Amino acid sequence: MTDVDESSKAAKRNRSQSSVAVRNFIGGRFTAAASGTTIPDIEPGTGEVMASVPDSDERDIENAVSAARQAFRAWSNTPAAERSAMLLRLGDLIEGNLEELARLEARDGGKPISLARRLDIPRAAANFRFFATAILHQSTEAHSTDGTALNYTLRQPVGVAGLISPWNLPLYLLSWKIAPAIAAGNTCVAKPSEFTPLTAHRLAELSLEAEIPPGVINIVHGHGQKAGRALVRHPDVPLLSFTGGTVTGAGVAANAAPMFKKLSLELGGKNPNILFADADLEEAIATSIRSSFWNQGEICLCGSRIFVERAVFDAFLDGFVEATKRLRVGDPLDETTDVGALISEAHLQKVSGYLEIAQKEGGTIHTGGKRVDRPGFFVEPTVITGLSCDSDVLQDEIFGPVVTVTPFDSEEEALALANGTRYGLSATVWTRDLRRAHRVAAALDSGTVWINCWLLRDLRVPFGGMKESGVGREGGFESLNFFTEPKNVCVKL
Ligand code: NDP
Repeated sequence: MTDVDESSKAAKRNRSQSSVAVRNFIGGRFTAAASGTTIPDIEPGTGEVMASVPDSDERDIENAVSAARQAFRAWSNTPAAERSAMLLRLGDLIEGNLEELARLEARDGGKPISLARRLDIPRAAANFRFFATAILHQSTEAHSTDGTALNYTLRQPVGVAGLISPWNLPLYLLSWKIAPAIAAGNTCVAKPSEFTPLTAHRLAELSLEAEIPPGVINIVHGHGQKAGRALVRHPDVPLLSFTGGTVTGAGVAANAAPMFKKLSLELGGKNPNILFADADLEEAIATSIRSSFWNQGEICLCGSRIFVERAVFDAFLDGFVEATKRLRVGDPLDETTDVGALISEAHLQKVSGYLEIAQKEGGTIHTGGKRVDRPGFFVEPTVITGLSCDSDVLQDEIFGPVVTVTPFDSEEEALALANGTRYGLSATVWTRDLRRAHRVAAALDSGTVWINCWLLRDLRVPFGGMKESGVGREGGFESLNFFTEPKNVCVKL
């Protein structure tokens, strides 16, 4: 029997294990939605229903906000060292349940289990550990005003934080919000994507094991238009951290505006990956394969627009296309899978629409370009050249395994092409020229610039987007600052 046979057998075994009955988590208890109705949770790798999700509405949000408000006073007065210890326990529990969580994430979101094991779940544990430690090191300023007064700053928790996260990195992004929110002394109501509720449900169970008090973490599942909207509009939720699409983010901002809520919006991207002729081609190709196709291209930081200096364009394209053809598209639970399933049939149709546009506009598809003929929502990794930079394919966030490769002739042109979208989330630059690297990094409209790498993330650095990629920064002390309100106290001496 081959290794591939062995791993698809293992995938089947994993799938036969029972699915999770998802419930809301409010005030430390698991409950059904007030409506009594549920939403089917479809497994992208099979197209079949694998669980049901509470179809929550404003009644469930009301209950959750009320539980979070009740827990706030005690939690915000809990010494930081005690809060920190609980977060560390939760980080350990996530690590201790890594295999199970990775399997849930792969089934629920369609991502390869190897990626969930390497990226999503370790990062979720790291988020809790990082903010457990960071909160012990948060400091504030004090100023003596010419000896007549002493000014100092208090950093106080805001109250109930509303946290809304997407389906592409479910536990990773949910924990990126919950960890700093509660480390800083807030309580929270989180609304994960209804497409990927399973690891959020498991996190709720683990939070009980970590002895985080009831009401500190509340999780309400359901549709964004119903449960999400109710959370955004709730008057007792003064702060919102939202990660998702740009159009949804604009709606969240509009709903939050009348109450002047504190807002962080981490939105879409259409990120450039710029390769100069002096770059290490082999390393650039290997990393560009990851930045193009990891998680099926469903990472906001994926570099979906590749720009290559003309002198090495053909060499890059040949190597890149060959490497793309070697990627194994398959069952997310199969250990040998490189590219899994897209999140849903609707999303697959959206991605396919861009492949049709590419063909209509005379683009050349070097590999991929089609749906994979198997149950579930699979699209071949696709490499396209020959499209104008004004094409919707190069302007819109496709959020699938689809990249374009475009030549350029000068640094100036590369910058104009890279900056020529409404987004500004991240960018990668490949060059061995130190001065050029710094010059281009400074000139890019981008919240993050990677030089000769991609997705090397240090949790201490600020993270967020420019232009339509978002408002505000999270990460490190930026997160702790966001989740606290600074108060100036002035004492006359
Ligand atoms: P969506 O914007 O569709 O949804 C994000 C979350 O918002 C979901 O939980 C969704 O619920 C909820 N939601 C939807 N409508 C509303 C509403 N009116 N009020 C409140 N909440 C609402 O994004 P996706 O889930 O499709 O995720 C993909 C997007 O996320 C991509 O654009 C990607 O770039 C972006 N993203 C950005 C990142 C960043 O850091 N900048 C990181 C990761 C992803 P429901 O699922 O039920 O609709």
